[in-house]
Amino acid sequence: MIFNRENKAIPYKMLIKALSTTKELVERILPEHGMPSLRIGLKYILSSLNKNKEKINKGKPIVGYHFAFPAEFLRCFDCVPICLEGVGYFLSTLLLHGVEKYYDLIAAFGHPFHTCTAQKGAMGMTLDNLFEFDAIITPNSPCDSTCASYPWFKYYKKFPIVIADMPFEYNEKGYRYYATQLKLSLEKLGRLIGQEPDHEKLKEALRIENEVLKIKLELFELIKSIPSPIENMFNAVSAGSSILIPGTHENLNFYRDMLQLAKMRYKKKIHHGIEEKIRTIWPYMLTFFDISLCEWLDRKLGMSVLFDIFNYTFSDPINLSGNLNEIYYGMAKKAMQMPMVKQSGEFFYTFLEDSVRLAKEFSADCFIFTQSLACKQFGSVPQLLREVLKEEVGIPMLIINFDVGDARVTSIKKIKETITQFVHTLL
Ligand code: SF4
Repeated sequence: MIFNRENKAIPYKMLIKALSTTKELVERILPEHGMPSLRIGLKYILSSLNKNKEKINKGKPIVGYHFAFPAEFLRCFDCVPICLEGVGYFLSTLLLHGVEKYYDLIAAFGHPFHTCTAQKGAMGMTLDNLFEFDAIITPNSPCDSTCASYPWFKYYKKFPIVIADMPFEYNEKGYRYYATQLKLSLEKLGRLIGQEPDHEKLKEALRIENEVLKIKLELFELIKSIPSPIENMFNAVSAGSSILIPGTHENLNFYRDMLQLAKMRYKKKIHHGIEEKIRTIWPYMLTFFDISLCEWLDRKLGMSVLFDIFNYTFSDPINLSGNLNEIYYGMAKKAMQMPMVKQSGEFFYTFLEDSVRLAKEFSADCFIFTQSLACKQFGSVPQLLREVLKEEVGIPMLIINFDVGDARVTSIKKIKETITQFVHTLL
């Protein structure tokens, strides 16, 4: 296939189209108070993605990135940042039968079935010549699946890849090392796309994300209240906003509007859906292949998902008054706290300790752990977590084996039945 600039990122444009159709449906069909986080999120996410669509048409470089690479760092370039995992998973949410066709395509090519659909969607699409990246950037984290999948883009499709080497050590030495890696990686990426990193633009994106962080922390405090003032759908939309459009005013506005809504609900003790009966923490992922589960839990079971993996890791704000090295140091600390990186990059003690602390602070009644075959680095952790929650907090944990993007592994019907049975043991 011969690429012209308009068709270098067809799945990204498909995502924009699907989001736009969903927005229209939400606005025309749902009442004003129905899933406000979806309504608010779609408005801001689409506004930002449409700007990128214009840039694609103008021929700006297309830079693919792993979700564990904070995309606000890429704002130092005049490029179109596209999250490989984000496009695959959000299309799996929005399209009928998701992106199963592309999982099958890359499997038929010979990529192991037990790797992660996070990457497999974008790999299948690229195999089908729907993506043409000018460069791709990724950390060698959080998992084997990531490290084993990204080289395919380089060796099979010949796209230049920049890999930021993330250390295991979560201490000053580790952060300094990764700060240097980030600086070198952005410089290398700049050479590949013919641009110099613009550090003033970078600082502005970081400043916006510092503001976002403040709001997220305030929201997080409000979620401690009973009932939780946030609907379950917020978790999925927040993941979308944080992964697809960080460092933009649209991202900041999304969280500002959500905070306002949460404060109003908190003051009036309003809970979305029916009365809150069960407060759950999902320390891993939601079902991206069918996020209507979020609404079903709120409305049918009165079960709050207080947060999932994309919504409970926080880093310190980045000090922007220091010199460039200090700013990169702050960026490194943040990047090593990214969702999944934080849980998988460190040994499991921290994860267990955090889970116990969060269970107590947020008055959780139980945990629901969604376990994927792809997350091999996490294989034995759920059982340990189950034991520690029982012993330290006295609450149970349900484990559901599934694939977050592929409905054929465990169907949504089966997941609902399993959760319903589990709930009977709680009430
Ligand atoms: S940590 Fe698990 S879910 Fe996340 S990218 Fe790796 S394999 Fe996929």
